[in-house]
Amino acid sequence: MSDDAKDRALVALACRVMAAAGLFDMHGHISLRDGDVAYINGRRSSRISVTAAQVAVVKVADGSVVSGEPPAETALHLGCYRARPEIRSVAHFHPLAATAFATVGKPLITAFNAGAPFGKAVPVYDDPDLVRNDSQGSAMARDLGKHRAVLLRGHGVAVVAEDVPSCVTLSLYLDPDRPLDPTLTPARAAGAVTRRWTLRALRGNPTPVRRSRVQAQVRALEQLDLAELAGRSTHPG
Ligand SMILES: [Zn+2]
Repeated sequence: MSDDAKDRALVALACRVMAAAGLFDMHGHISLRDGDVAYINGRRSSRISVTAAQVAVVKVADGSVVSGEPPAETALHLGCYRARPEIRSVAHFHPLAATAFATVGKPLITAFNAGAPFGKAVPVYDDPDLVRNDSQGSAMARDLGKHRAVLLRGHGVAVVAEDVPSCVTLSLYLDPDRPLDPTLTPARAAGAVTRRWTLRALRGNPTPVRRSRVQAQVRALEQLDLAELAGRSTHPG
């Protein structure tokens, strides 16, 4: 498989995982930077059944489209890539609870172990407009600073990471709805859904898990299965 095909497949799978996990609804996008281009799920594609062919490619330097139809807020991703050379994956979505925090202008304070990667607090980008152009993208990236995530006031969140699996994992950690589920809190707080696990899962080699031990991993595996099924149902063979 060529690098282009691998990048497309990884972004499509990550998008389906985010949808199966409930982080993406009809909106939300995840991208991967490879060299001077970024791969991102297409604006019209279903998030739960997006295929590799529906992944768009844009130039990082000027946002020009190489192929496909990128989402309206691609500038959000490009702003992060231009500001942070080490970042290779960006996710943007609209989780209810995080957006509520951002609406009142309060930073999200780290309160339990799974939040540790985000530092003491997640900053707030104080602009409710969609991030559609370069100046908005760079303003948001300025507020992101060196953090791993930024809340967008009244809008959603952006998460950045050094690779796609880490970006998916961090997005799962950031979603503050999840700790409210008592069956998931202990396992998640203990870091049960680790970056290493997600990496292997996204490579198609999930770590075998014992149901009785780690409910969060089981749930994540089910989400991955669902995501893969969704991809197969639209792309037989
Ligand atoms: Zn948005």
